[in-house]
Amino acid sequence: MKTLKTIKTVKGPISPDQLGFCDLHEHLWKSGGMEVFKDADFGIENIEKSRAELERYRQAGGRGIVDMQPIGVGRGINQLKEIADGVDVHLIAVTGFHREAMYDKAHFVYKYSLDQIVELVVAEVEKGIEVNDYCGPFVEHSGILPGVVKAGTGYYKISPLEEKLLKVAGKVSAKTGIPVMTHTQIGTMGLEQVEILKAQGVPAEKICIGHLDRNADLTYHRMVLREGVYVQYDCVARVKYHPVSDTMELIRELSKEGYADRIMIGGDWGRASYLKSYGGSPGLEFIPRQLPGLMREYGISEEVIQRIFIDNPKEFLAF
Ligand SMILES: [Zn+2]
Repeated sequence: MKTLKTIKTVKGPISPDQLGFCDLHEHLWKSGGMEVFKDADFGIENIEKSRAELERYRQAGGRGIVDMQPIGVGRGINQLKEIADGVDVHLIAVTGFHREAMYDKAHFVYKYSLDQIVELVVAEVEKGIEVNDYCGPFVEHSGILPGVVKAGTGYYKISPLEEKLLKVAGKVSAKTGIPVMTHTQIGTMGLEQVEILKAQGVPAEKICIGHLDRNADLTYHRMVLREGVYVQYDCVARVKYHPVSDTMELIRELSKEGYADRIMIGGDWGRASYLKSYGGSPGLEFIPRQLPGLMREYGISEEVIQRIFIDNPKEFLAF
């Protein structure tokens, strides 16, 4: 008997049709870890404020959202559950790892073998996210299942550790069906990530290459899309990198070429100063409030808008 596919949210599995408008890359809780240690603005550590931010997202039309904080960099599964409580949004948590620069040399990722780490991550997929990110001697699975497995690489570089953790993500996905979403540094090494993940047995439709719009280059994105995988645009209004118009033009052009079924969007507003409830801007509401309208102004069809925000996330996240 074939079991029905579901999307795993912090409140439990849902049917893919329930998901709705989805932002694939956000951060609602980030406490401790290398990034926050280096720059306190990366800390997103107030449950009430994060819940208020999520509610603002809902009021703007957002229905599903992925918190992309993986193991050992400040993830908090109990806090995510509390944030989601009382807000009518499907919040999805992740397992897996970030790029090497996010881990202190004392972390277990350097010490355990590939197979050992696969075992730890599969346990999260099957029994729920470990409440202390496997950083203590006791292991306690929360029962809250991750919806995505993450892996990351550096700028034009995949270190031995990153290759190991990419293989972990690939092996866990091949074994359990969980989709893989990656971090690329400035949009580089996407093709190499695809090659490593496919070699572990991950089908193209369960791979999404993240942050590709940090390098808003049509040519490179086409090369990645030809592999059959998803590309994620998740710095859509980070003007220190590029203007929103770049993302609009990429979507318009690539959807004309038939790639609308492989593009997804995230905000990755991973600093307190980007979140309205923390006193910043433009907030999680920016994407649902502004992007569909801007896309229409660029002549992007309703069908493509629906594809990118609703159908693609629903198909990619279901397993
Ligand atoms: Zn992020």
